[in-house]
Amino acid sequence: MSETKYSKVLIVGSGPAGYTAAVYASRAMLEPVLVQGIQPGGQLTITTEVENWPGDTEVQGPDLMVRMEAHARAVGTEIISDHIQSLDLSKRPFTAVGDSGTTYTCDAIILATGAQAKWLGLPSEEHFKGFGVSACATCDGFFYRGQEVVVIGGGNTAVEEALFLTNFASKVTLVHRRDSLRAEKILQHRLFKNPKVEILWDHSVEEVVGADNPRGVEGVRARHVKTGEITEIPCKGFFVAIGHAPASELVKDQLDLHNGGYVVTKPDSTATSIPGVFAAGDLTDHIYRQAVTSAGMGCMAALEAEKFLAEQEEAEEQPATVDAAE
Ligand code: FAD
Ligand code: NAP
Repeated sequence: MSETKYSKVLIVGSGPAGYTAAVYASRAMLEPVLVQGIQPGGQLTITTEVENWPGDTEVQGPDLMVRMEAHARAVGTEIISDHIQSLDLSKRPFTAVGDSGTTYTCDAIILATGAQAKWLGLPSEEHFKGFGVSACATCDGFFYRGQEVVVIGGGNTAVEEALFLTNFASKVTLVHRRDSLRAEKILQHRLFKNPKVEILWDHSVEEVVGADNPRGVEGVRARHVKTGEITEIPCKGFFVAIGHAPASELVKDQLDLHNGGYVVTKPDSTATSIPGVFAAGDLTDHIYRQAVTSAGMGCMAALEAEKFLAEQEEAEEQPATVDAAE
C-alpha cells in the first residue's frame, strides 16, 4: 500500500547541496527527509580526484560523497532511496510523489537535483550509447586499454576526462569546436604536455561510425567548422563531455527558469518564485557549478527554510486581529 510521509523540510537530491542542506536543517531540529534520487551522491560519484574541496588536498569524489552522506545521517537526517517523479508546488503542504509510490508532503522544500550530462543529439551517438559512446570516462575508461579514444568538449570535464583516459588508451584525441579551451589553465597545461594527447581544434563531430555485429564504435567523423573539411578519426571509444543541463524537469512549469533551464533564485538567496521553495547547487547555478558552491547554497537553503518556517509558525500563533470599530 502506498505511504504518505510528512516532514517539515523535504530535501530532493543527494549531491553536495542536498547533503549540506540536510546537515544544517538537522542541526536546526527540523528533522528533514532527504530523497536521494537515482544517483546517490550526485555528480562527484562519477569522478576520481577532487582537488579543490577545502581541507582535502586530494580526495576521491565517491569517498567524499560517502562521508557527506554519513555526516547527514549522523546529525539525524532521514535518508530515503527514492526518485521523485512529480511535484505539486501549487499549495502548502507541498506534495512530491516518488517512484516507490510514497507521497511526500512538506511545509518547505529544498530542491537540489543538480545537473545531468548533455549529449550532442546525433542519432549515431544514441545508437552507440553503451557500445563505445559514453559520458563518463571514470566509469568506462578501463574498457579502452591500449585503444584509441576521442573526447569532445573544451571545459574542465573534457580535459579531465581526456587526461584520465591517457591512463588506459594508447591515444586520446580531444575534439573542440573553437581554437581555445575554457578549462582551467592548470588542467590545460597538463593536457598540452601529455604525449598521448592530440587536439583537433575548430572541429565538430557530425557522426559516430561503427559496426553492428557486434555493435561497436570504429571512429568519428569530424567537420572543420570554418572550411567544412571532413576528418575521420579512428577510435573504439567516444566520450561526450560538453557540459551539463540542470535537472529542472520537475519544476519547469511551476518555477521561473532562465539560461537554459536553471531555477531562478532571488539575489543573495536560494528563495525561488514560490515562498517555501528553495533551490540550491547546480540546479540554480549556471556560472560556478562547483561542489563547494553547491554546498554553500545548500547551507543557505536550510537556513532560509528554517527562517521561513519560523515566520509561518509565528503568523499562525498571532491572535486574529479584532476590528476596533466593532
Ligand atoms: P549533483 O551533484 O548533480 O546531485 C544531484 C542530486 O539530485 C543527485 O543525487 C540525484 O540523484 C538527485 N536527483 C536528481 N533528480 C532527482 C529527482 N527527481 N528525485 C530525487 N533526486 C533527484 N566540482 C568541483 O568542485 N571539483 C571537482 O573536481 C569537480 N569535478 C567534477 C567532475 C565531473 C566528471 C563532473 C561531472 C562534475 C565535477 N564537478 C566538480 C562539479 C560538481 O560535481 C557539481 O558542481 C556538484 O556535484 C553539484 O552538486 P549538487 O548537489 O548541486 O548536484
Ligand atoms: P562547460 O564548462 O559548460 O564546458 C562545456 C564544453 O563543451 C565547452 O568547451 C563547450 O564549447 C563545449 N560544447 C558545448 N556544447 C557543445 C556541442 N554541442 N558540440 C561541441 N562542443 C560543445 O562544462 P563542463 O566542462 O562539464 O563543466 C561544468 C562545470 O563543472 C564547470 O563549472 C566546471 O568548472 C565544473 N567542473 C569542475 C572541475 C574541477 O574543478 N576540476 C571538473 C569538472 C567540472 P565552448 O567552449 O565553445 O562553449
